[in-house]
Amino acid sequence: MDNGLRLGVFLCDCGGTLSKAIDFSAIKAELEKISDVTYVSISHDLCLERARKVMQEDIKDKGINRVVVAACSPELHENGFMNIIQAAGVNRYLLSMANIREQCFWAHPDKGKAAKKAMNQIGTAIDRARFLEPVEQTKISVNRDVLVIGGGITGIATVIELSNLNLKTTLIEKKTALGGKLNQFANLYPVRVTPGELLAAKLKQVTERQNIDVLTSAELIDVSGQAGNFTAKIRSGKKELVRNFGAIIFATGCDSQSPGQIYGLEPSNNIVTQSQLEEMIKSSSKVEEIPQSICFITDTSDKHSRVSSFSVLENALGIKEKSGGEVCVLCQSLQIDGAGLERLYRDCRNKGVLFIKFDIPPKILKQDGEIRIEVEDVLMSGERLTLSCDLLVVEETSMPPLDSKVLSSTLNIGLDARGFYQENNVHLYPVASNREGIFFAGNCHADLDLMRALTEASNAALSAYQLLAQEKITVEAEKTMVDPDKCRFCLTCIRACPHHAIQEFRVNHEKMVAQIVDLACQGCGICAVVCPAKAIKSKDWSDEQILAELELLGEHV
Ligand SMILES: Cc1cc2nc3c(=O)[nH]c(=O)nc-3n(C[C@H](O)[C@H](O)[C@H](O)COP(=O)(O)OP(=O)(O)OC[C@H]3O[C@@H](n4cnc5c(N)ncnc54)[C@H](O)[C@@H]3O)c2cc1C
Ligand code: SF4
Ligand code: SF4
Repeated sequence: MDNGLRLGVFLCDCGGTLSKAIDFSAIKAELEKISDVTYVSISHDLCLERARKVMQEDIKDKGINRVVVAACSPELHENGFMNIIQAAGVNRYLLSMANIREQCFWAHPDKGKAAKKAMNQIGTAIDRARFLEPVEQTKISVNRDVLVIGGGITGIATVIELSNLNLKTTLIEKKTALGGKLNQFANLYPVRVTPGELLAAKLKQVTERQNIDVLTSAELIDVSGQAGNFTAKIRSGKKELVRNFGAIIFATGCDSQSPGQIYGLEPSNNIVTQSQLEEMIKSSSKVEEIPQSICFITDTSDKHSRVSSFSVLENALGIKEKSGGEVCVLCQSLQIDGAGLERLYRDCRNKGVLFIKFDIPPKILKQDGEIRIEVEDVLMSGERLTLSCDLLVVEETSMPPLDSKVLSSTLNIGLDARGFYQENNVHLYPVASNREGIFFAGNCHADLDLMRALTEASNAALSAYQLLAQEKITVEAEKTMVDPDKCRFCLTCIRACPHHAIQEFRVNHEKMVAQIVDLACQGCGICAVVCPAKAIKSKDWSDEQILAELELLGEHV
């Protein structure tokens, strides 16, 4: 009986490499015997334009309506193959891939096993292809304005980048002025201009741009909606504003822990944090105002901080050069992985800054207002040294922004174990949150120096632009869908969805059901797995498709 299926199988031997283990002619002959397989071809380079054109023509000429590609990882080329079949007039979701390179040829040195597994993989891909369903694309309108939260240097750079991309932005800062931490500093390494000059230049651009709206003394109270159409409630002074945005970027920086919490020592005029030292240097007009003997202590927390290394080395050198006093850095394993930090460390040593390495954290005693430090010097075979100084600068530990817990639960975005905002994928999507349309930049999610924070500002702006470049964006309609008749509205899927893509919906003014928002859904399939009523179906990986694969695999176990 004709079921209308016309399967085309496209094999690729990856420039001839896979043929060393896999006999493609034998596989082709086997595949041609399978019912509904209309056409089988062998190519050397399906990733190249020339071969793709041939594939497109083959699909049209042979009337193929399901495509199976046996080649490399779908991660690399699946989207490309989807585009080819779409151009050939077949729905882009009627594609099934077998990864015979990474999962067969690369994984199995034994040629016989690699070839056998390749045949199995292709067979399961064919069986899955029989159950594939088309997913239609639809266009939805998006609001192209962007909300940036946090007016430090990262937030400021982000709105300038967005303005360059022709997107209108609102920048909200909870303090009375923009600038964040840079307002406290006299110097920044390795920037040649002062933080004040850098800020002034950036703020001038912000004021000149028509498409940037700045609200100071302002905070985000609530957000509803989804990517492309968020509604934000903002408190600005005494007013409460409601505005719509297509994307939201967090640039809320971080807080820091005080020395009292680290050592049980009360902060005083001769024990300060690195930030307090920065402010002290900024406000001292004369060299004599800077204490003559200073000790820095670092590596006291279990988390290495790049920003802390910058601050210690830059200030140790600056003070040594200015006052010529005694400057000592107590460290365990000063890790210096920022641009220019190795040079800065060498400059410190050449100018006479003393570095003392410890294994056991030094004892810090305060007697009659005097600071005494007892430390075992690792490089002197553990010899016990007692130092005194006029000022002790204690490493500060970066802490998550104070309100990150509240904001993360308001917006349903994830936090990491320490409470910083969590990237969706630290390698692939380093500025994206778990929610489509919400991004991070700067110190609110990572320990970043200025240059890295500015790079992230550009990344976050470009990510928002990618989403909002056009007034209407194309999304896959109902790739994952809830059957309202089966839904018992138990809320399990709403709680389980890591991307906050499921909302409550009332059907015909009557019963409530779960509803998936196409733009926000990332197609992970978790909701379909957890739904106790089996009311959710992922068209891309339906139960039928998975069972068909398992059935064939079962035959080979
Ligand atoms: C002691 C010290 C020394 C440093 N030295 C160097 C150096 O020499 N070289 C270098 O490259 N880098 C250095 N850095 C790092 C540098 O300061 C940061 O990379 C940079 O300041 C990051 O800026 P940001 O905008 O991400 O954060 P921030 O400057 O902290 O700005 C965040 C802003 O967000 C606002 N905000 C927070 N929450 C909200 C909210 N809910 N709503 C509205 N607004 C909010 C805050 O008020 C603040 O204005 C140093 C950092 C420290 C702490
Ligand atoms: S888990 Fe299933 S039954 Fe429960 S709300 Fe979601 S779709 Fe409805
Ligand atoms: S597939 Fe389900 S769980 Fe995954 S993002 Fe989409 S709605 Fe959320």
